[in-house]
Amino acid sequence: MIKPGKIIGIIGNGQLGRMSAIEAKKMGYQVYVYGPGTETPAGQVSDIEVDGHYDDINKLTLFAQGCDVLTFEFENIPAISLEAIRAVTPIHPDPSVLEISQNRLGEKNWFEANGFPTTPFEEVRSAEEVGSTVKKWNTRAVIKTLTLGYDGKGQTKVDPGSDFAAAWKSAGVQTAILEKWVDFDHEISVIVARNESGEVVTYPVFENIHRNHILDTTIFPARLEKPVKRQARELAKSMAEKMNLIGLLTIELFVTSDGRLLVNEIAPRPHNSGHVTFDVCPVSQFQQHIRAICNLPLGNTEPLTPGVMINILGDSWTDGEPNWKHLLSMDFVNLHLYGKLDPKPGRKMGHVVKSFNGTDFSDVDRIRRILKIPHLDL
Ligand code: AMP
Repeated sequence: MIKPGKIIGIIGNGQLGRMSAIEAKKMGYQVYVYGPGTETPAGQVSDIEVDGHYDDINKLTLFAQGCDVLTFEFENIPAISLEAIRAVTPIHPDPSVLEISQNRLGEKNWFEANGFPTTPFEEVRSAEEVGSTVKKWNTRAVIKTLTLGYDGKGQTKVDPGSDFAAAWKSAGVQTAILEKWVDFDHEISVIVARNESGEVVTYPVFENIHRNHILDTTIFPARLEKPVKRQARELAKSMAEKMNLIGLLTIELFVTSDGRLLVNEIAPRPHNSGHVTFDVCPVSQFQQHIRAICNLPLGNTEPLTPGVMINILGDSWTDGEPNWKHLLSMDFVNLHLYGKLDPKPGRKMGHVVKSFNGTDFSDVDRIRRILKIPHLDL
């Protein structure tokens, strides 16, 4: 067990690191953060902020030597860096888990090999292979780059009548994955935590609504039939056990119109959809993550009240700063800002959590108007 007072090293310095650090500090840990830049979202709330690149093995090794346990909040850390630091200080989740999630093809193959249902896919290496597969499927599909894709980046949609050469050119890669387009009813996620003692907990299911491929709103708990939710949580638990996970894992899934679950992707870390737990659960995803990597007992996951999370992107600053006074004059509203200085369009600047009765979304409309976010039918 890594006791409170010890030093937790977080690799990555964004908002996920920031909120993990806040929870770790709450429990009396010291937090060191590593990543490029200074005065970063995580660095601002940590004891020590090291400005370094993820491929600077010497600097990373020095950083690791100063910590009692390591974790990461950024997924694209080179495998060679991870191998170097794991020899110095324990790192959770294990780099092998991170490696599964770093490459979409490896991830999909892992799901299939371990019996987790996923979207039909093919590895493709040319416009001709894209064309023949889309024609064989006779349905819309999406070309995804194998690495570095997030928030819809690195994705190109194709239809049986598309110009495959142009689509392949815009993907701009030598190898990619082609996925059948899923006509889903809902997008959901499940967050599971497991510690070294083998204790496992899952949060209730999060219902996620994306806009322009970026998460816009999370409704918690999801408005779905109980058996589907139970099945999703069981799937998450079984995945955590199969991976021998220590830490937190988020699983994003599609729910099809006939109630089937298809795993879209996984992330071995806290997740945007779980931000709502910070305000409505006795133990947030961030605290759960800290408890899991330190082998402390895991905490309760059931919410004290239903909640809605709305992301605040840089777009909300287009005509000047949002009116925080109007926002915070509302009841049961919590504002989180990540300490980022330049609000660019599409950049995640913060989020709002509104606890509510689970059915009346009228205040969500008001929050969206204040933040100049387009209306969403809930
Ligand atoms: P991803 O980066 O794979 O999570 O994709 C971002 C978003 O694009 C997802 O949350 C979905 O809304 C949409 N998307 C990705 N893949 C598919 C697919 N095969 N079928 C339908 N929608 C998809």
